[in-house]
Amino acid sequence: MMDVNQFKDHEQVIYLQDKKSGLKAFIAVHDTSLGPAAGGCRMWDYENELEALNDVLRLSRGMSYKNAIAGLKLGGGKAVIIGNSRTDKSENLFRALGRMIDGLGGKYISAEDVGISVEDMEIVAEETKYVAGLNKGEHASGDPSPFTATGVYFGINAAVKHKLGKDSVRGLTIAVQGVGHVGYYLCKHLHEAGAKLLVSDINQEALDKVVQEFGAKIVALDKIISVDADIFSPCALGAVINDDTIDHIKAKIIAGAANNQLARDDHGQALKDRDILYAPDYVINAGGIINVAAETRGEYDVVWVNAKVEGIYSNLETIFDRSVVEDRPTNKIADELANEIIEKARTGKN
Ligand code: NAD
Repeated sequence: MMDVNQFKDHEQVIYLQDKKSGLKAFIAVHDTSLGPAAGGCRMWDYENELEALNDVLRLSRGMSYKNAIAGLKLGGGKAVIIGNSRTDKSENLFRALGRMIDGLGGKYISAEDVGISVEDMEIVAEETKYVAGLNKGEHASGDPSPFTATGVYFGINAAVKHKLGKDSVRGLTIAVQGVGHVGYYLCKHLHEAGAKLLVSDINQEALDKVVQEFGAKIVALDKIISVDADIFSPCALGAVINDDTIDHIKAKIIAGAANNQLARDDHGQALKDRDILYAPDYVINAGGIINVAAETRGEYDVVWVNAKVEGIYSNLETIFDRSVVEDRPTNKIADELANEIIEKARTGKN
């Protein structure tokens, strides 16, 4: 069902159809008060246009919030292509998308997301310069995962300080769900800092690597969320905090890279009620977008990137402290903080 409130804050929503290539897509520009609307392009087998529209509205707002709290001069936007990413891709489809993004004149900057590869975006980039996150090119920043992992590591430390009063993860047990691109680098940081690692993944090769390199112990897929650990770090799937799992979590902290960790917004309150500290996903996993954002500033500056990624610690500190003072869940505080930053930029502009 479409909720009309979904449109409340969006600046522009566009439906694209190119009959020649079969492209059907939406681009949503949520807010450009802070700068051009940046956010990836997703390809998904949506049931229908309405489902895709709902998704693009939600995801573009999420990007505004994420970019605002990360302190980036970027607004929030997103593109979604309706189609099967295994069977419906073609060069013409990505070229058509590129021309349409170009037509927006830089209001929306795209990048890869679920179902879209860097190679796909390279085709888009032949039609428009408003694409970031590529492997080659003048300002290419490469794989964002190590930066995301470093940001999550800082975020875990901020949560450990707030909840456990400790300055380090040394001796703590951390359950990492998913040891792919981000999970692997996160395990490396945690291992080097002296944490004990429990891991799960559907990919045996990825598991073997972290067992051999970091002495991680494997936990069954359905047990990782309820295992005895100080911290649960979701780095695989969304919606892992849901009605079925929430009562089984033993960790006192949830801090990981996965997007949309809460199945519903009110699970934030439910975690708070259970005395579990939740590091809002889009705040803690912003390292990747920070790295990509560096491309949009002209010269890629690694010092600037590292300082911003390190800032994830203090961004979370602010949210945790305010959550205590206001006695409200961290996910709500994060949304409000993001809205305040955007509102300030908006009114400052007018
Ligand atoms: P990835 O695909 O490289 O890694 C995900 C890992 O999770 C894979 O190894 C996969 O086998 C594993 N997995 C899948 N289903 C699982 C299950 N049921 N239980 C345990 N493991 C399972 O992806 P990634 O780039 O490492 O991203 C991880 C998460 O972080 C995703 O939710 C992604 O959206 C989010 N994220 C990533 C970045 C980034 O820079 N890559 C930035 C922000 C957010």
